[in-house]
Amino acid sequence: MSRSVLALLDVRPAYTAMLAKKYDLHRWDQTDDKQALLDQVGAKITALVTSAGFGVPDGLMDQLPNLEVITSFGVGYDVFDLEACRARGIRVSNTPDVLTDDVADTAIMLMHATLRRLVVGDDWARSGQWAAKGAMPLTRSVRGKKLGIIGLGRIGQAIASRAEPSGVEVGYFGRRRKQVEYRYFDDLVALARWSDILIVACPGGDATKGIVNADVLSALGQDGYVVNIARGSVMDEPALIGALRDNVIAGAGLDVFYNEPNMDRALANFDNVVLYPHGASGTVETRDAMAQLVVDNLDAWDQRGDLVTPVF
Ligand code: NAP
Repeated sequence: MSRSVLALLDVRPAYTAMLAKKYDLHRWDQTDDKQALLDQVGAKITALVTSAGFGVPDGLMDQLPNLEVITSFGVGYDVFDLEACRARGIRVSNTPDVLTDDVADTAIMLMHATLRRLVVGDDWARSGQWAAKGAMPLTRSVRGKKLGIIGLGRIGQAIASRAEPSGVEVGYFGRRRKQVEYRYFDDLVALARWSDILIVACPGGDATKGIVNADVLSALGQDGYVVNIARGSVMDEPALIGALRDNVIAGAGLDVFYNEPNMDRALANFDNVVLYPHGASGTVETRDAMAQLVVDNLDAWDQRGDLVTPVF
């Protein structure tokens, strides 16, 4: 008999269809009476498909006593209670690498869009201000700036290698120095003081909660820009809003927010902020590759009790 799998979301229609073909798939997202579904199939579910955004709803694991594996769509795993998973012997997989290029591209896109004021420029042309008032106000050049990256991992390094040809000098902050030529800072305020542009690319979770705080933003300074493609939790958002309001920094490019999708509306009032709705990995190509990796992890678990890309 095929393995019973509970999917909390549709990873991508073609890949969910693949799962339905191979496994005894139950769709939590398509079930109105979720408790009735759990009463009926909870005991036979051995694998759970979820995402880095969705996580596992409170109390769900208690109703899946034979759960062996959680295959997550996304690379970040800050939403999961890893201790609880370990204690129950539940393995977890994610989808690293396949999204690195698109997320790094998004960071670079937000960096350029913020310094060059793409959204203001677009409005300037569209709204007729160009014809009525003449050229838009001057913007800031990326070339010659110092770029500080928080978290020089897979995505951080891909950001660095894309940013260098734009003529920036790269520095980074993390828990340890890497074997790279970029300048290392063991102190985040010191990195921010050195940087003209700060890009956040570290994991979310307790260890990084609010580390981009008022001190860091004030060290970045009034000509400095911050770009966040990591997690909203890494940013002290009230401090960011205060820094934008009081011109403590020059601008921000944001893909992630503390409260998603109900982001703090104050951020929408600044014309020196470029907003993107957590879409860094949101291309057809990358989402397909992530979905394929979810399928591959499930297949590996089913066939040989192993995972292709384990968190642990
Ligand atoms: P990764 O390869 O594990 O890199 C994470 C880096 O962060 C590591 O180099 C690590 O370096 C550093 N780091 C870890 N803990 C830290 C801490 N407490 N303080 C400072 N730096 C720390 O992960 P990745 O694949 O690059 O992904 C990074 C993050 O991007 C994910 O965790 C996820 O939250 C986010 N992400 C966002 C999107 C999006 O849609 N916006 C998409 C994908 C990923 P050290 O070990 O040296 O500290």
